[in-house]
Amino acid sequence: MNGIEGGVAIVTGGAAGIGRATAERFAAEGASVVVADIDADDLAETVDLIEADGGEATAVETDVSDADDVASLVEKTIDTYGVPDFALNNAGIEGSSAPIADQSLEDWKRVIDVNQTGVWNCLTEELAVMADNGGGAVVNMSSIAGLSAAGGAPYVASKHGVVGLTRAAAAQYGPAGVRVNAVCPGVIDTEMIDRASDEMGEETIDQIVQAKPLRRMGEPEEVASAVVWLCSDESSFVTGHPLVIDGGYMA
Ligand code: NAD
Repeated sequence: MNGIEGGVAIVTGGAAGIGRATAERFAAEGASVVVADIDADDLAETVDLIEADGGEATAVETDVSDADDVASLVEKTIDTYGVPDFALNNAGIEGSSAPIADQSLEDWKRVIDVNQTGVWNCLTEELAVMADNGGGAVVNMSSIAGLSAAGGAPYVASKHGVVGLTRAAAAQYGPAGVRVNAVCPGVIDTEMIDRASDEMGEETIDQIVQAKPLRRMGEPEEVASAVVWLCSDESSFVTGHPLVIDGGYMA
């Protein structure tokens, strides 16, 4: 895709699922990729996969809910490859789908800290260096739960928050040449869905999948291609947009 080759990309939550698929796609398009995650072993495996395909990648163990960790992630990216041109702020957890009255303050805080404050921490570090460097493109990971009640309440609130942060960041940093968009996937076949299926029952997931016009789960690679498109020159007039990738579920 135009404008990706030779660039520098950060992908959080890059040890698995959508993050890993996107890191692989960035690398296949010729970007140098810094993958960040709390899971050091699987993170190393992502780097191995990218290198085996002839790509360039570095792992930085990072907890996105920790502002110092994220500051150090961006610093290490600049030291290793230069100022990031692209970022996918993707690390996330699903939390519990129990009714609100059955969840504790800790349950709420855990999901908000990773999914929403995690994106905030990334934006505070990425936007300034991109703006100083003349521009860039950021994609934040929301969900159809960022546009509807498709999940547990803390998850839904955190993903709505990500859409709000995306719009605010796009409005503030557009003049500096930084585009900021969100992706809102439906059910994508990853370990997160395996865990949700264990909690809610396979039947519930199957009902959601069968309610989609395309009658199937999405693949991580189908989200990755949308993310890389949103970072490429092919989407040069798109910013502040929550892009739904859900097999038609929201229709
Ligand atoms: P996944 O569980 O396969 O991957 C999530 C990754 O995030 C894991 O590698 C995990 O270790 C990492 N992570 C968790 N907490 C972290 C933290 N504090 N700091 C750094 N890394 C952390 O899940 P996935 O399905 O690939 O999900 C990726 C993102 O996509 C999440 O934000 C999720 O909410 C979102 N999403 C997923 C779906 C889906 O159906 N799978 C749908 C919509 C949105």
